[in-house]
Amino acid sequence: TAPRCGSRSFSRSCSCPPWAVPAPTARATRNTAARSPRIPRGKEPLPGTLFLRVISRCAYRITRAVSLYVFGSALQSLPRQWVLRGHSHWSYEDLKHWSTDYSDCGGTKQSPINVDTAQATFSPDLRPIQLSGYSLPANKQLKLKNNGHTVVLELPESLALTGGYAQQYRAVQLHLHWGSPLGPGSEHTINGRRFPAEIHVVHYNTKYDSFTEAMVHPDGLAVLGAFLEVGHGENQYYHEILKHLFEIQEVGQETLVPGFNIAGLLPANLKLYFHYNGSLTTPPCYQTVKWTIFNQTMLLSHNQMSMLVSSLRTDDDKLLQSNYRPVQNLHGRRVLASFQTTPLVKHAPGSDDSATAEGHSSSFHAGDVLAVLFGVLFAVTALAFLLYIYKHRSQNTRLDSPTKSKVIYTAASTENTA
Ligand SMILES: [Zn+2]
Repeated sequence: TAPRCGSRSFSRSCSCPPWAVPAPTARATRNTAARSPRIPRGKEPLPGTLFLRVISRCAYRITRAVSLYVFGSALQSLPRQWVLRGHSHWSYEDLKHWSTDYSDCGGTKQSPINVDTAQATFSPDLRPIQLSGYSLPANKQLKLKNNGHTVVLELPESLALTGGYAQQYRAVQLHLHWGSPLGPGSEHTINGRRFPAEIHVVHYNTKYDSFTEAMVHPDGLAVLGAFLEVGHGENQYYHEILKHLFEIQEVGQETLVPGFNIAGLLPANLKLYFHYNGSLTTPPCYQTVKWTIFNQTMLLSHNQMSMLVSSLRTDDDKLLQSNYRPVQNLHGRRVLASFQTTPLVKHAPGSDDSATAEGHSSSFHAGDVLAVLFGVLFAVTALAFLLYIYKHRSQNTRLDSPTKSKVIYTAASTENTA
């Protein structure tokens, strides 16, 4: 039988999305605790274990190289799913193949996107996001794993979204996207700006029995996203994750993290956000995600950001870096904002959050009204001034006084050019 998605034997990832998490069972948790490779710094595994690991890795590489050499051309012509069955063998260097292997990746509601704040539609119906059960006691152990694409923290089902969405969503996991020392790596961008990193907290609609079932339905998933930036001082909440990264440097490794307040990983202000309908940002790219991108960013110290971008490794023994997908075409989708992004932001006509038609037949905006008002005032003033000059000049001509005439004329010209 195939190993369970997310189980340790599935370490090279599987046909499920890379961050798919199995429904936790008591047995799985026990096994994890027993086999979890929590390797404190300096305490390396036994030489025998290490030897076996090296041998198996070499064997894998040699087999792969030989089979590629022998069957190389034949493999090229076969659909990749057949060749790589059982492995979600996608990578960020291989973006253009995503849609041939996973048709949804070529769809018209893909994520991430660039959020153009001037184009966002203000929707007063977007209520503040409410988190419940996010504060976890330290005796609640959470699994943290390197799946080769990102670091995933599994979340208990007690965490839920209770406000901001029309339906109830339950948390499954959170993970991060980052860049490299050379560049930022958030997935979404704001007005073309990419942030150093981005956190995604994945939830599924409680009307479905499991995440796997929910992920194929249009209203199945809700993901909360926030940007990470470099600021002064350590972020204590991110420290709870980052301090364990050295234990899971290799793909498939996992460790246990004591519970903490998960809400601390998200902005304090949950009222200001952008909302749109999109997809998973990794294969299979299912277009079933209602996205929330917070306006407020999270601050990490420079050291913490360095730890994030240079701790984990990939299948190919390279550093796991720049694990973000480029922004996708909006294809006419509307991005809603829970707040006024600019004074001229357009109002959403309806209360529907599915971003339907928009009232282009809009009346004047505040800016337009002001411009017209000032224009009229200027015209009236100029006209009055000209009339005044004309009147005085004709009077002076009649009085025939050159001195006075000169004074009035000079004064008028000075004011005119001011
Ligand atoms: Zn993500």
